[in-house]
Amino acid sequence: PTGEDALLRTDGLTKRFGGLVAVDDVNLRIQRGEIRCLIGPNGAGKSTLLKLLVGQLSPSEGHIYYDGRDITGLSQHERARGGMSMKFQVPAVYGDLSVRQNVHIPLQREVGRGRIDAAIEETLDKFGLLDVADTRATDLSHGQQQWLEIAMASALEPELLLLDEPAAGMSIRETEKTAEYVHRLNEDRDMTLLVIEHDIDFVRAIAQSVTVLHRGEVFAEGTIEDIENDPEVRRIYLGE
Ligand code: ADP
Ligand code: MG
Repeated sequence: PTGEDALLRTDGLTKRFGGLVAVDDVNLRIQRGEIRCLIGPNGAGKSTLLKLLVGQLSPSEGHIYYDGRDITGLSQHERARGGMSMKFQVPAVYGDLSVRQNVHIPLQREVGRGRIDAAIEETLDKFGLLDVADTRATDLSHGQQQWLEIAMASALEPELLLLDEPAAGMSIRETEKTAEYVHRLNEDRDMTLLVIEHDIDFVRAIAQSVTVLHRGEVFAEGTIEDIENDPEVRRIYLGE
């Protein structure tokens, strides 16, 4: 890819926390329709990078372009309206509300009244949550809570979906389901996805391309095969 028609591009993106450079001069190019995985050791700067992209944090230096347009100064809300949505690492569901009520929240702003019940059912169905629609979110299994979050983040059919560790703490079976959901979002709705994940089997199952972050910098980039066969990556990431 030349980066000319990238959906998302960063130039020299940098975030400092005091003396710590959490994200260091990152130049990303995410193509439309791509599933990109972002991997790297703990503390590498992955979550910080996603928070910069979605507008939860502002960069110390550098620029973010979405669809060719500089969005560095836009708020999180403005970016969401532009088609960007995110599931954060720390769960953000409303525990006392039912699953249905949670899904209602992102939809209520944009979906017309006559359509909203159908839109909720459709979203619940997509993520296997119809049977627990009236359960309080806090009573869900860990896996179901993660799916509810992905459901909420994707309900408005964003063009770009950022997922921070969607399969963390899941069983093998749940992880496989999550990979299936990610594929379906990408195929059915032509969604572009940028996904942080530790579980290498999950990365193998979903990634079309992989970016390795190490100490805030892009350490390597390529197909999952390139990355898995790169001795330097194995050293820093897989601890070999
Ligand atoms: P990852 O998601 O790759 O594990 P993070 O992006 O969470 O890494 O963190 C990168 C580095 O930045 C870590 O050293 C972390 O302690 C630091 N960091 C993250 N958020 C903050 C913050 N709000 N204030 C200060 N330091 C932070
Ligand atoms: Mg993180």
